[in-house]
Amino acid sequence: MLTTVGYDEFILMLSGATRAVRENYERLSALDTAIGDGDHGVTMRRAVGRVDDVVAKASGADLPGLLSDIGWALLGIDGGATGPLLGSWFMGMSAGTTQPPLDAAALAAMFEAGLASVQEQTKAKVGDKTMMDALIPATQALRAGADRGLSIDEVLRLAAEAAEQGAASTKDLAARFGRARNLGERTKGTQDPGATSMSVMFRGFYVGLTQPVATAAH
Ligand code: ADP
Ligand code: MG
Repeated sequence: MLTTVGYDEFILMLSGATRAVRENYERLSALDTAIGDGDHGVTMRRAVGRVDDVVAKASGADLPGLLSDIGWALLGIDGGATGPLLGSWFMGMSAGTTQPPLDAAALAAMFEAGLASVQEQTKAKVGDKTMMDALIPATQALRAGADRGLSIDEVLRLAAEAAEQGAASTKDLAARFGRARNLGERTKGTQDPGATSMSVMFRGFYVGLTQPVATAAH
């Protein structure tokens, strides 16, 4: 049971998220093929490749610096809605954090700052069938868990569950933003790709921290 996240634990969270996206990228593209242009999995795979590159080159121990390097790398991904939105998310988290260790309240504050930054880029709210349907409830779950005095692992588990529920809820919705908006009612029956990738990342944060993959001995 963790009460704080240090720099190394945050790297485990990030690695869990990037691994989870790579494991799910075909599903993400299949969802986007149904209601968009089919590129979401490939774009997300490229995005997490950039994250892994930045992490590999990082000097270590500067969390705001790492998050802003990731943000810039994601803002530079060409094409589509995802790069600017994810880039803004990490830029906001960078501005909204201090150096670790972070307790649950500080972690919640970091994610709240990330969400606020995304909300400067999009007016999408819960119910519009976008990534916000996962990101908003996950961020709220982090805050609610921190306010209840829960441990880091517990708040991350609650955030993953909230993101997954939010992503699942998009299945019955008609898209009101992005490319899928053109299909409107015809998007009902397909879970939103961006909400799904958000939920995959939040599950990855939790799994990465609590069940880290053993690195091979050299
Ligand atoms: P594109 O639609 O440009 O091909 P992607 O396929 O990578 O980009 O991502 C699609 C996802 O991006 C959607 O499923 C949705 O969750 C999210 N998205 C698209 N436009 C917006 C927007 N204006 N606000 C919030 N999220 C959006
Ligand atoms: Mg697409």
